Amino acid sequence: MSDTVKVGFVPLSTAPRGIAVAFCDDQLRLGVATGKALGGASDLIKRAAGAARFKGKDGSVLDLLAPEGIKIQRLIVIGTGKGGDHKEKDFLKYGGSLAGKLNAGTEAVTVLAELPSGPMTPDQVSSLAAGVRLRAYRFDRYKTKKKDEEGDVSANVSIAVADVAAAKKAFAPRAHVTDGVILARDLVNEPPNVLYPEEFAKRAAALRKLGVTVEILDVPAMKKLGMGALLGVGQGSARPSRTVVMRYDGGKKGEQPVAFIGKGVCFDTGGISIKPAGSMEDMKGDMGGAACVVGLMHALAARKAKANVIGAIGLVENMPDGNAQRPGDIVTSMSGQTIEIINTDAEGRLVLADVLWHVATKYKPKFMIDLATLTGAILVALGTEHAGLFSNNDDLADKLLKAGQETGEKVWRMPLGSEYDKLIDSQFADMKNTGGRHGGSITAAQFLQRFVNDTPWAHLDIAGTAMGAPKSEINQSWGSGYGVRLLDRLVWDSYEAKS
Ligand code: MN
Ligand code: ZN
Repeated sequence: MSDTVKVGFVPLSTAPRGIAVAFCDDQLRLGVATGKALGGASDLIKRAAGAARFKGKDGSVLDLLAPEGIKIQRLIVIGTGKGGDHKEKDFLKYGGSLAGKLNAGTEAVTVLAELPSGPMTPDQVSSLAAGVRLRAYRFDRYKTKKKDEEGDVSANVSIAVADVAAAKKAFAPRAHVTDGVILARDLVNEPPNVLYPEEFAKRAAALRKLGVTVEILDVPAMKKLGMGALLGVGQGSARPSRTVVMRYDGGKKGEQPVAFIGKGVCFDTGGISIKPAGSMEDMKGDMGGAACVVGLMHALAARKAKANVIGAIGLVENMPDGNAQRPGDIVTSMSGQTIEIINTDAEGRLVLADVLWHVATKYKPKFMIDLATLTGAILVALGTEHAGLFSNNDDLADKLLKAGQETGEKVWRMPLGSEYDKLIDSQFADMKNTGGRHGGSITAAQFLQRFVNDTPWAHLDIAGTAMGAPKSEINQSWGSGYGVRLLDRLVWDSYEAKS
């Protein structure tokens, strides 16, 4: 793990030491236990708040150094606004804000996990703790000289809670989900000379330690299956392609699995339809969908989710080469449908076409969700705040929308329709791999839909959210690990919350 912050739990009655963190509302009120622990802090906060124009607004922070009359070095007060309707994402944000205030070399931090209305619940506390860890994440393994940047935390964060045992119990699964996010971030941040299809497959295979069955399909195995669409993309690379199928069975024996499929283009030059040089380095992140699926499988297996889950990723490198696929080529996908290649840079859908078909026909999942950094057009439509959601199933789409609201990994539903589908008909083959400039994210989704074989399916276009998204309270990393928390939540809500 790339973070160095340690999070533990202590009773709310513990006297804070080092740095204390407290929560107030928009009246600057503190909880009872917090007031007691910080004896006399209320007046101090009110006076300082006036000078700092701090009004306890949700997410705002008041930072007091060497507070008078209290035996701590520093008091950080986090506003929670009116209180009331707080969600998981709010507590994640509070955890992120407080971690963002810690400097390198910080030692002891005591977080008084109490709202003015009473102690935080175990779930709220575990979100807070997850927020601290997500914020503290750094990807600096290739820096030989480390800088003491602000927020570069190496601290022991003690979260003071009403019920230590309950907090530990609630945080245990959340810690695994957080590890999954961190794993996904690491994979996205890794350089493409290090993380190519075979190496990526190896890292996925490490999930075997958690009881995940991992099957790696090499090029001859994929040829045998007839994965001509995926193999066409990788044929110009010196690095051979791989498909990895992960399986975790934590649900009822024989119960239909749910499936998650990720685009894993380890580097996308565009191929013969080569991309401009500017920012091409970002195309190391074109495997963000696959990274999310691996992080999710880690989360689900480590926390022993009660669900049967398939995770499948198509891993290729899209390179221009004497053997690379050409515009005009016609490939035959595993489904038997033929595809005319118009633009070799529209490669992600070709990879997914075969992996979707393989999963749909071999495992017959209850539903399948794919994630892909698929189109630049989704950035034009939705920016970096929402992933694009396309689905042939309203129930599945609604579940994703709800999980997005709770976790803060938001999705926005986009249309599908036969009018759009016509745009990918080809004069020489069953379809072509681009539908033109207009509605580019939609025609890409229409393309994928031709390979889902009536399975309830959703496609998440994460080109705007998986990498290079603006830094947030819980993410300072280029690779965001987007989707792990969203889909873990979906599995939880769909299969575990009631049982
Ligand atoms: Mn591309
Ligand atoms: Zn791509």
